[in-house]
Amino acid sequence: MKDKYDLDMSKPVCELIESVRDMIYDARCKIRNIGYLNDNRWKERLEPMEGTLSCVLISLYSLNEEIYEWELRATKSFAFRSRGIGSESVPCFCCGAGGLNSNISAFISSEEDGEKINKFFKFPQKLDYRDYEPNRIQFKVGGCQRHLLNLQKLNHLCNWGGINQEIVNKSLKMDWE
Ligand SMILES: [Zn+2]
Repeated sequence: MKDKYDLDMSKPVCELIESVRDMIYDARCKIRNIGYLNDNRWKERLEPMEGTLSCVLISLYSLNEEIYEWELRATKSFAFRSRGIGSESVPCFCCGAGGLNSNISAFISSEEDGEKINKFFKFPQKLDYRDYEPNRIQFKVGGCQRHLLNLQKLNHLCNWGGINQEIVNKSLKMDWE
């Protein structure tokens, strides 16, 4: 779905903004290089415009952080109300290691939701459904000692009350990786 400027409107907004930033970045470099022509004849006159483009680049960058967070939540997500981190025998969501691990327990809306949430994970996690407590369905996500930071990150990203594939993917990687 491309518009007349060849912008693919079906893509996430943060990607579109990023592509616009790339163009502005190129434009800024071109203006700078033009300034060097004819013994820097127009350099001083062009510099303020180069500066203006730098401001636009920075503003778009910070707006895009907000858009990214918003899109992360707005994409199809399921209710997931974390009760915090405890410990239980649930496989690590990063490496699959079993045994007693740290884990997030969260209330979810239905057993059916739980099955869908489980598909976000490479290693199946634990759906805790009890016939005598049909309204208190819990979903449990494990994290081994080595991946405790990933589990904490997941818990943090879900603290608004929902979960989706992007959030799980994001938690599998730490920011410095
Ligand atoms: Zn692990």
